[in-house]
Amino acid sequence: MKKYDPRGSLAPRDIVARSIDSEMKRTGDDCMFLDIRKKGRAYLMKRFPNIYQKCMEFGIDMATDLIPIVPAAHYTCGGIKATTDGRTSISGLSAVGECASTGLHGANRLASNSLMEALVCARLTAARLGPHPETFGALPNIPEWKIGNAVPPDEAVLVSHMWDEIRRLMWDYVGIVRTNKRLARAAHRIKTLRREIRDYYFRYLVTPDTLELRNLAVCAELIVKSAQKRHESRGLHYTLDYPRQSKCIRQTVLDGFKY
Ligand SMILES: Cc1cc2nc3c(=O)[nH]c(=O)nc-3n(C[C@H](O)[C@H](O)[C@H](O)COP(=O)(O)OP(=O)(O)OC[C@H]3O[C@@H](n4cnc5c(N)ncnc54)[C@H](O)[C@@H]3O)c2cc1C
Repeated sequence: MKKYDPRGSLAPRDIVARSIDSEMKRTGDDCMFLDIRKKGRAYLMKRFPNIYQKCMEFGIDMATDLIPIVPAAHYTCGGIKATTDGRTSISGLSAVGECASTGLHGANRLASNSLMEALVCARLTAARLGPHPETFGALPNIPEWKIGNAVPPDEAVLVSHMWDEIRRLMWDYVGIVRTNKRLARAAHRIKTLRREIRDYYFRYLVTPDTLELRNLAVCAELIVKSAQKRHESRGLHYTLDYPRQSKCIRQTVLDGFKY
């Protein structure tokens, strides 16, 4: 790791993840290894009791063995613009935690920042809302749901396939290291998937899975469009085509976005 950053494994997560990714690609290995043996069994069992236990379940003793690791998605940097006391642009809607983009984390998420969100932002939001949270006010008149010619789904496997495909293409083309070409490939595929999902949505009776799939595709499209607009690398967004950080910070793709 020192080859990539003098801080070694304690460098920010984006740097560590990129380094692991780069070494895996260079060597063709399935994983890299974490070596924490020098800390000794007593320390490891006290400091990391759950991880120690979990590793043991897989036959890995952290005190004597190397731990196989690969980068994984384990946080996001928000999507809903919010203040630190959870306010959003929609009255009655508060956002706290991983879904909130408060600016606290910048374009990266450092270790244990979720604690700040969970403890500080949640508390500020609760204090702002008080015992009588604001409401949405009168709901608009929503017409009865018409099922039209929709029939019960006879091939629900399509949903899980499309779901898997989004997950895979986002990891492969919009993951740790991006390029214009990979993003274009992802954009093209997501466009087709959204058409297929819309078709499925109208053809068959709606289920929670269909709705979640539709939402996943919308999120994926927004992430890809945002990444394509960002001609720089910043925090978690790293692209080989624009490896440097630019001075211009925010651009939005929401204007004119068709849900
Ligand atoms: C493997 C891993 C390691 C991590 N390590 C760290 C770390 O070391 N330090 C750190 O700071 N952060 C870490 N994180 C990130 C941290 O866990 C998250 O940032 C934090 O949990 C986000 O909290 P949240 O309340 O916003 O969301 P969540 O904890 O995801 O809570 C969302 C809740 O909403 C529920 N939900 C979802 N959809 C619906 C629905 N439709 N209806 C009702 N309920 C719903 C979910 O079941 C869930 O309970 C890690 C995450 C992972 C996955």
